[in-house]
Amino acid sequence: VDRLVAPESPSGGSEERFDRAIRPKSLADYIGQQAVREQMDIFVRAARGRDEPLDHTLIFGPPGLGKTTLANILANEMGVTLRTTSGPVLEKAGDLAALMTNLEPGDVLFIDEIHRLSPHIEEVLYPAMEDFQLDIMIGEGPAARSIKLDLPPFTLVGATTRAGLLTSPLRDRFGIVQRLEFYGVPDLATIVSRAANILGMEMDEAGAREIALRSRGTPRIANRLLRRVRDYAEVKADGRVTAEVADQALTMLNVDSSGFDHLDRRLLLAMIEKFDGGPVGIDSLAAAISEERGTIEDVLEPYLIQQGFIIRTPRGRMVTASAYRHFDRVMPRDLSS
Ligand code: ADP
Repeated sequence: VDRLVAPESPSGGSEERFDRAIRPKSLADYIGQQAVREQMDIFVRAARGRDEPLDHTLIFGPPGLGKTTLANILANEMGVTLRTTSGPVLEKAGDLAALMTNLEPGDVLFIDEIHRLSPHIEEVLYPAMEDFQLDIMIGEGPAARSIKLDLPPFTLVGATTRAGLLTSPLRDRFGIVQRLEFYGVPDLATIVSRAANILGMEMDEAGAREIALRSRGTPRIANRLLRRVRDYAEVKADGRVTAEVADQALTMLNVDSSGFDHLDRRLLLAMIEKFDGGPVGIDSLAAAISEERGTIEDVLEPYLIQQGFIIRTPRGRMVTASAYRHFDRVMPRDLSS
């Protein structure tokens, strides 16, 4: 789906260039997530003091909240190189072996979407994480044999959108587990102001706050909205971003006051109009709005649930009074009781 408020990262293109310019490179520049930041600061200093690699670290949280950024920062703070791969890309044990045997001592191996590793790759990962040993089969049939290789000590940083999708033997091998939360408006406003500063944009506090309010708690979305508001401000307002300019730009782009776009509105309105507010099962809902169940679960729903527009019950999803209010609709009496 082509959405302005999509939290997933694009591959390549101008957004990636923009992103590289504003992505924080140190823990000190990583805004919000205070508990995570304080803990990681201690773990990094302790590991450095002992001249050991950082413990294997699992980072989970919805897309766009800063998992990849944090992985890069951890490598920077440890003074090592980060190598990146992802669960779906690693198909053969040999691919993983090639990556791991090329690591320098202390390096960070970052595996994004680690919940999508295939089971046989996971098996290779266990001894690598535990004993820095690679145990792989070479050859086929009667000639097949297993070889063991010593690996340099390294840090595995895994990222996943939902911790529940990870197998427990894999989860248990991470010494550090960090969960990223949606960002509050003040933190998002700081992120937007910082980016605007780096880009040499003129923006007042109220302008930053207006963008923050509509960013669904997600830094990646905040930065994307900032780019579009910048375009609008340059053409319509001499480049200066105020609350009014930001509001006009985002309204024109169909991002409403809660940061919802047409897809969110379609989901909420389907629940209200077709299912009387619910409860409705996820598959019926997916069919009603012609979206995949996974899109609803991973992309649309987490923020709507966190903001209290949707609740999950044993009988299915229901919309709340806030959702009715958002659309200026009257809530049926039996729901409000
Ligand atoms: P994820 O890997 O969780 O999908 P990213 O790490 O790619 O998310 O983050 C998306 C973008 O949002 C980053 O490139 C960065 O510019 C911005 N960002 C994320 N977290 C922070 C933060 N804590 N402070 C400032 N900017 C952030």
